[in-house]
Order: sequence, then structure tokens, then C-alpha cells
Amino acid sequence: MTEKLYYADGYLHEFDARILRLETFRGNTAIVLDKTAFFPEGGGQPGDSGRIGDVSVIDTQIEQGIIYHIVKDPGNIDVTGTVRCAVDFQKRFARMQAHTGEHIVSGIAHAMFCVNNVGFHMDDTVMTVDFDRRLSKEQLDDLELSANECVYGNAEVVSWYPADSELNSISFRSKIDDLEHPRIVTIRGYDQCACCAVHVARTGEVGIIKILTAVSHRGGVRLTLICGITAYRDYVMKHAHTLRIADLLASKHGETDAAVERQLQKEKDLRWQLQQRTDALIAYVKKNESQTTGNRVFCFEKFDPETLKTAAVSLKEVCGGLCVVISGDDRKGYYFAITSASVNVNCFTKTIVSALNGSGGGRFDVIQGRFQATESEIKAYFSELTVN
Ligand SMILES: [Zn+2]
Repeated sequence: MTEKLYYADGYLHEFDARILRLETFRGNTAIVLDKTAFFPEGGGQPGDSGRIGDVSVIDTQIEQGIIYHIVKDPGNIDVTGTVRCAVDFQKRFARMQAHTGEHIVSGIAHAMFCVNNVGFHMDDTVMTVDFDRRLSKEQLDDLELSANECVYGNAEVVSWYPADSELNSISFRSKIDDLEHPRIVTIRGYDQCACCAVHVARTGEVGIIKILTAVSHRGGVRLTLICGITAYRDYVMKHAHTLRIADLLASKHGETDAAVERQLQKEKDLRWQLQQRTDALIAYVKKNESQTTGNRVFCFEKFDPETLKTAAVSLKEVCGGLCVVISGDDRKGYYFAITSASVNVNCFTKTIVSALNGSGGGRFDVIQGRFQATESEIKAYFSELTVN
């Protein structure tokens, strides 16, 4: 059995240990030490990374009491002596903050709303916590506030092993019904839960707890949570976004939502105006073009595919053959819509797109796509093409 230094001191991150052996663990090379401060994956918390001598540890796992430090490349590590080891404590402390935050939230949710934590996942960006019943927006707000009040209260967090005789008299949360010798993590005044992971010593170290999202999940709710340094980084990123958005919209920092609403309304009005003018333009072209035989190509500036389709359907009556409506430029190519009042345009799709280096297709009375050709090449091609 590997001696677990992380239970004696959750903050220990540099230590000397003896290398006992190199082993293959689940297909990876792993170092086994006589003792370690590397926390192995457990209780929903990922395994630590760091260094053993000059060797990089990428993960830590435990099996039957033996702790395996997974390494990418053991190099020429000396397996006979004592070696200096260092846990990546920045990462580990963020996980301790997050995991303690999860206990606070789950404990308070259980106490306030009688919901049970039935699922937990943690990675280095977010945590998800699943509860067995749904919670309303107001309940979630109360939960978040109470969880942060627990942080400010700086309650003590202790882990302990109750004696067998005590087990029936103490109450604690647990996902496993039949625990023989549970390790209990107590947040004084807030929560008691069976857990094997390493936590911070006082809740103040969690810093902040933020619920990012709450979505329905298997009849209950799945919360996405962040805590501590991860929440701070998230705040920094989001604040930079807010400043940038406020700057772009020339609005005050706290009023970007109203500014976006105004911008969306403005865009809606402009779309409506554009639609009116586009319809008027198409009607004008239709009215002033005399009916001709053969194919016709109409070129409009900056029409989107949907407007091209509307124009093609509207203008087909002035064309004896194909009514081709295009929009684009000679360098990037042209979007097109093709209709006809006299023939089935679908019969010509393959011929047309291959002749004009294009792609596209369609159904019923209109084909649409893109040509990689110049305007004059497109016009020349359709002036030669016979369809009737
Ligand atoms: Zn836990």
C-alpha cells in the first residue's frame, strides 16, 4: 500500500519519496513510490499531475491501495533511490476549491430543498452536479447565495473516520448505501458527506461559487458550477467581453443588454425596409423589361440566395427560356437562382453547373447554387444554350 501523504496534509506538494518500481498500469508506464502527495482520481476529482524527479507525471490512479503515477516517458529514471517530487499544486488547489464548493452546494441544496446529489463530474474548466429533483429559478438563486454565504462564513472543513459504533448515530450524505469505513468530510454547520477527495481547510478558500447553467436532466436538474480561481478567470474573460461589447455598442457597461435589444430592433427595421425596396426593385425591373424569347440573365448586387429565388420566380414571366438571376463578383463567383415559365429547369441542372464550374440543385421549378465563373462567361453561356 502506498502511504497517502495527501490525507495528512492536503497542501503538501513537494516531498521526497523512494521509487519502488516501474510498472505497466492499464497500458501506461507508471511509477510506484513508497509514499505520495499525488492525489489519485477518486470521488469525482481527477488524478494529480506534476513531476517525479525530471519525469512528467500526467495522471495518478489507485488500485487496491497502490498509487500509480502515470508517466509519458520514464527516461532513465533511477529506480533505486530517493527522488524529489512535486505536485502541480496550482491545478490541484483549483480542484480542491471546486470540490469543496460542490460539497457546499450539495449540502445546502439537501438541507434547503431535500434534493439529493445523484451525479458529479469535474474537469479543469467546469463541474456538473446532478440533483434528483428540479429546482426553480428562485430556489437556485437562494441556493447560490447561501453557498456563497457559507464561503464568507469561512467554516472549517475537516475529514475524519467515524468509529463503527458511531456510524448509525451520525447522518451524512453518500452516494453509496453500504459503506464499511467511510471517510467523512464535514463542513461545520453546513454539510457532512462521505468522500475520498482532498478539500480546502476552510470554506473561505473556495473564494466564490457560481452556478453557470441549470438544465433538466433525468427528471431532475444538472447544474454547471465554477468556483475559486476558475470562477475568477471566468469573470476576467466575461468582463473583458462585456467591456468590448459595451465599447462596440457605445453603451454603459451595465446596460449592454438594453443596447443589444435596441440594435436587434434596428436590424429588424432595416431588414423590413430592405425587403420593401428589394420587392420594389424587382417589380420595377419586371415592369420595364419587355417579354423576350430565349434565356435572360439578370445580375443584382448583394442579393442573398432567398432574394435571388424570389427575383427569379418573379422575373420568369419576361423570359421565353431560362430566367437566370445572379449576384456576386467575378473573383469569388456568383450565387444563382434559375426558373422558367416554359421548361422544367431541373432537366438542365447538371449541364449548367458543370459548364460554369458550379454546384447546386433544386426541386420543382427552381434550381439554386453557385457558379465559379465571371459575369460575362455566365451571360455568354446562357445566350448560346438552347432549352426550348
Ligand atoms: Zn466529494
